[in-house]
Amino acid sequence: ESDGLLETRHAHFAKPQKNYYKTPPQIERGFGAQMYAMDGRTYLDMVNNVAIAGHGHPRLSAAVGRQWSLLNTNSRFHYAAVADFSKRLADLAPEGLDTIFLVNSGSEAVDLALRLAWAHSGARNVISLLEAYHGWTVASDAVSTSIADNPLALTTRPAWVHPVTSPNTYRGPFRGADSAPGYIAAVEEALKNVDAKGEKLAGFICETVYGNSGGIPLPKGYLKEVYRQVHERGGVTIADEVQVGYGRLGHYFWGFEEQGVTPDIITIAKGMGNGHPLGAVITSRAIADSLEREGYFFSSAGGSPVSCAVGMTVLDIMRDEKLQENARDVGDHLKARLEAFGQRFPIVGAVHGMGLYLGLEFVRDRATLEPATIETAGICDRLLDLGVIMQPTGDHLNVLKIKPPLCLTKESADFFADMLAKVLDEGW
Ligand code: PMP
Repeated sequence: ESDGLLETRHAHFAKPQKNYYKTPPQIERGFGAQMYAMDGRTYLDMVNNVAIAGHGHPRLSAAVGRQWSLLNTNSRFHYAAVADFSKRLADLAPEGLDTIFLVNSGSEAVDLALRLAWAHSGARNVISLLEAYHGWTVASDAVSTSIADNPLALTTRPAWVHPVTSPNTYRGPFRGADSAPGYIAAVEEALKNVDAKGEKLAGFICETVYGNSGGIPLPKGYLKEVYRQVHERGGVTIADEVQVGYGRLGHYFWGFEEQGVTPDIITIAKGMGNGHPLGAVITSRAIADSLEREGYFFSSAGGSPVSCAVGMTVLDIMRDEKLQENARDVGDHLKARLEAFGQRFPIVGAVHGMGLYLGLEFVRDRATLEPATIETAGICDRLLDLGVIMQPTGDHLNVLKIKPPLCLTKESADFFADMLAKVLDEGW
């Protein structure tokens, strides 16, 4: 029976902040990858790409409580945590990227990365990929081109954004191409458009595994060549690692490692705070210092002692519980199980991604790749009935967004695969 809270939410919580489900379970508590609802039901959380160390981790509660009771202030003050955490992040990054800005979200990190690219290059034009999502703030939204997230994304672009056809090897104009030339031509076209305006390039931003469409790895050699051309024009390369970075890929800590490149600027958020608002920009001293020409940078809560304590503890847990290794092993196991579904269920078009960053793409026809959008929504609803929280992603909302906490056990991965098989057996 309803306690009226959903109606209250609809009455007062602004509509654009959607909940995927029409009648969502009211979640009271979480532990590991499990969530517990008010009505006593248990759900396996297969989509929350933020809580990488799992829900309700006692070490995180203790760290937050301890630091909160000691001190919480801002980075205009000097305290140990801001030095320790900045060094820890710098140590995780490739050589040369040793300078840190601490903010509160992925959107802020992307906005700041764009400002850094503008300040460092003295130019404004930025190339981003089609179907991307980089955030909701004004600049991060401008480089976000996903029509699933924002139906007006392509009609409201400011002139400094140059979206290029994404290197999607699964569908679209470059389907099946496993090498880079066609995709590179699309980037070269954008560079020509910048030249035609008589302007310079500020930079290039993309997710280093092609996230919004379900985790499709970029074609071999793609970023190496794009980064080369961007540098040739004096531009700065930004790797948006908000989703893919920080161990989720299992086989790599950073997504750009998969492409064998090092960006000039890295943006991170989501998992690094495990749900606490925390984001960062990692770059070189030279690029960071270029912002000084515009004044200074300050974020009231970015890099607060509590945020730093959370960030340090998440990294401690990842190390002690071997979460990246777990993402690799459980992810490989799950991917193999899901790939085998391809033989049993014609609706399974492909399984993208690696580690615990997977996307299962549903199609109505394997030849035309017609997206099975309505079916995907129905399958997610049935999974909820069976105790699995799962949602669609991608521009056609036909991809299962498989991005669970990195502490997911093999047993839970099997439970998810079993429940999915049960739903697909119903004849979707
Ligand atoms: N970049 C990417 C790749 C993201 O997936 C997201 C969040 N979905 C963001 C940036 C924005 O992060 P936030 O929601 O923390 O502002």
